[in-house]
Amino acid sequence: MALVYNRVALIGLGLIASSMCHAMRRAGLAGEIVGYARSEETREIAREIGLCDVVCESAAEAAKDADLVVLCVPVGAMESVAQEIGPVLKKGATVSDVGSVKRTVIDAVAPHIPQGVHFIPAHPLAGTEHSGPRSGFAELFDNRYTIIVPVAGSDPAAVARLEMFWRGMGALTDEMDADHHDLVLAVTSHTPHLIAYTMVGVADDLGRVTDSEVIKYSAAGFRDFTRIAASDPVMWRDVFLNNKEATLEILGRFTEELFALQRAIRQGDGDHLHDYFTRTRSIRRGIIEAGQDTDAPDFGRVKPRKE
Ligand code: NAP
Repeated sequence: MALVYNRVALIGLGLIASSMCHAMRRAGLAGEIVGYARSEETREIAREIGLCDVVCESAAEAAKDADLVVLCVPVGAMESVAQEIGPVLKKGATVSDVGSVKRTVIDAVAPHIPQGVHFIPAHPLAGTEHSGPRSGFAELFDNRYTIIVPVAGSDPAAVARLEMFWRGMGALTDEMDADHHDLVLAVTSHTPHLIAYTMVGVADDLGRVTDSEVIKYSAAGFRDFTRIAASDPVMWRDVFLNNKEATLEILGRFTEELFALQRAIRQGDGDHLHDYFTRTRSIRRGIIEAGQDTDAPDFGRVKPRKE
């Protein structure tokens, strides 16, 4: 893959930005990668592991002269970063972000983007429960969708270039409107995270009664909940505060379904349970057929034992 942008600036150097550094280098997409993180500690780590070509002391210093600036901070921090970099952005540059929510990020960032600079929000649907500059890896985006969310008046050539950049990092790309994105993500990511946080919280309460049994005998289903519930608290706090309406809508539907299953269990309605689980099983098959997960036992974490 050839060079897509000469100078790429990443504001925030956590899981997503560090993965972008590795993925950009793997494909040679950027002439120079500059980065900025809020804390001296993160900047030091970034220098030590050679994450970027240059680690700057301010977001404005990183954004100045950049052809692409990507905001890789928690959703609630996007506005203050945009406010800082707005005045130094180069004419013709593109500003994008990787925030997990799109409508509030657009409302917060767009007013700070000057005329002549393209603002094209995006969201890579890829992540892990780890955070920080050491957690990134080049393969994070491989074969996972990055949703590009053009705003009114987005220049088609600038959008096409950003899509080429993400595809160069291994991602598949799709375009969506911000509100639709937020509703889809409330179903596929935000509400499941909230449920995982809740389930682990419930188990933690029980754990006080049963000592360490919750950990000792944790079955695969619960272990997956604990992995999801280990995700960064700041990032997820901001997701729920910023995708309030869609999450509450899906949570309402979830609660109704849960009550229906609760009633079926109470009334011994095996047919209802069986039909429901048959339907959900076919959804899982669909995800595997779409190449978005593996069919291997335990999601491929356990290698089959050789006889
Ligand atoms: P992360 O590993 O926790 O890194 C966050 C970075 O943002 C750190 O460099 C941190 O600086 C900086 N930061 C935090 N608060 C800030 C503030 N108030 N002002 C300026 N900088 C601040 O996070 P991440 O997982 O890469 O997530 C970054 C963005 O990607 C978020 O918007 C998130 O919604 C989105 N996203 C995450 C995932 C995922 O699974 N993790 C997936 C897709 C999209 P310090 O290190 O100096 O504290």
